[in-house]
Amino acid sequence: MKLLRCDVCVVGSGIAGISAALAAREAGACVVLVSLGTLGSGASFSGTTWGLGMVGPLSDSTEDKEAFVQGILAPAGDVATSGMAEVLANRFYESLTTFERWGAVLEPAEKGQETHRSYVPCFDTETRGWFGFHAGPSHDPLVNTVLRSGVECFSAAQALSLLKDPDTGALSGLVASCEGELMAVVCPCVVLATGGMAALRKPTLSSGQCRGVGASMAADVGAQVANLEFEQLMVGIKTSGTPAVFNEKLWRYTRLEKDGKDVFRLAGIDEQEAKAALEAHSWHGPYTSQRPSRKVEEAIWAVGGSCDAIIKRPEGELPSFIATYMDWLQEAHGLGFGDKLPVAVYHQASNGGIVIDPKTCQTQVEGLYAAGECAPLFAIDRLGGIASSQAMVFGQLAGIEGAAYAKRRPLAPEVPTDQLQLVSCPDEQAATPKDLKSLDAPQLKCKFEQWRAYHQAHGEALLKACIQRRIVSGKEPGPILCP
Ligand SMILES: Cc1cc2nc3c(=O)[nH]c(=O)nc-3n(C[C@H](O)[C@H](O)[C@H](O)COP(=O)(O)OP(=O)(O)OC[C@H]3O[C@@H](n4cnc5c(N)ncnc54)[C@H](O)[C@@H]3O)c2cc1C
Repeated sequence: MKLLRCDVCVVGSGIAGISAALAAREAGACVVLVSLGTLGSGASFSGTTWGLGMVGPLSDSTEDKEAFVQGILAPAGDVATSGMAEVLANRFYESLTTFERWGAVLEPAEKGQETHRSYVPCFDTETRGWFGFHAGPSHDPLVNTVLRSGVECFSAAQALSLLKDPDTGALSGLVASCEGELMAVVCPCVVLATGGMAALRKPTLSSGQCRGVGASMAADVGAQVANLEFEQLMVGIKTSGTPAVFNEKLWRYTRLEKDGKDVFRLAGIDEQEAKAALEAHSWHGPYTSQRPSRKVEEAIWAVGGSCDAIIKRPEGELPSFIATYMDWLQEAHGLGFGDKLPVAVYHQASNGGIVIDPKTCQTQVEGLYAAGECAPLFAIDRLGGIASSQAMVFGQLAGIEGAAYAKRRPLAPEVPTDQLQLVSCPDEQAATPKDLKSLDAPQLKCKFEQWRAYHQAHGEALLKACIQRRIVSGKEPGPILCP
């Protein structure tokens, strides 16, 4: 078994993981990064659309920051964490500058159009600061910055279990599988940046790597996980490869058909209502049960969950958002105006996850930090464009705070490494490895599959338990799930 020692171990290499690793490294920490996908992966780089709209306050002024916080809290409902919204607003521009310095390619709102209504994010009423994160062009520069920084990187490496000190119970690192071998990373601080849980459900627009392992490992060690019932659902286009997001700005030009018949009519929705639903949906992408736009997804579900979308080209010059998206759709999938686009409702992202302290990103477990979609700003409906912002902002914060924590509490050198205990155990039988020493026994090698199955089952159980609790407590806000 490979054994490594460091100050901070970051799990995941999407926007949050890359940000955490680089911020911790710049703060002077010795950092190991463990990533299931290739370096620069997850929903941040999954290629389901041209890039990610990243949203923050209109400017760094106090007034705009306060307005942004209100903009987040309004659709987020009673589950929102106002402390996280405030940190996101306050740290947004500083984090953006750092992210660009590391190589992120960000395209600001078009010059002279900054207050245009197109820049009103999903579920919002006001224009905000908008930056397009171009995942493709950002990938190599960000990855190269990580590689040059001295962060020790492992891709195709799956975190399996956290480790704890048998005497004090303190978090002491993690165990991962890396290219078929076990690897133990011994450290005082772990940052989970494993993305959301949308790939636990089907169909999904998220990266297949987002299967809730972070939430499962955090819950195993005693950290709180909450509001998992709030997921983001989104209409997507089925393609022969990765499905594509259906851009919301196109809804008002779209006709939905099933076997040549109008989907709204088949669903018993009259023309007026259908037109209003399509217009309302043109201002936000994700499904919500709280607005008239819900009739669009509900009509698709009523006809069996999928249908064709035919987009009529608007007259005159195309608005820039539409032009960018349609150019990408044509180039990536050979699809365009007038084509029959096979659409369905997909699971896209998590609006709940691991609970963290907004000021430090620490979970309730000392030494365990989390950032990005695995520890999101809780929301019933999430303001558009803040998932990527929070991955950037809280990723950086987790790295800075994690490095400071590791400096304050270096792992006691006398801890007998081979006796460190595993927190997540796939089964409770005698064959289950309980500590690093027994893990090395020949008959216990290759337990990876069992661990994967364990985390998958645990993640699914967490989701189910959350949904049931909300329904039992009578607070279910509406038909939030795909049938
Ligand atoms: C189709 C689509 C469109 C979107 N559009 C937008 C948008 O326009 N604006 C916006 O703000 N947000 C958008 N989002 C959401 C946004 O992409 C994500 O919330 C954000 O990228 C999450 O970043 P992250 O770093 O937290 O996680 P991810 O980018 O998902 O990264 C997770 C990382 O964890 C790794 N990992 C997972 N499990 C393990 C494990 N056990 N061991 C080791 N590594 C592991 C993965 O390999 C990956 O590297 C969209 C999402 C989707 C799916």
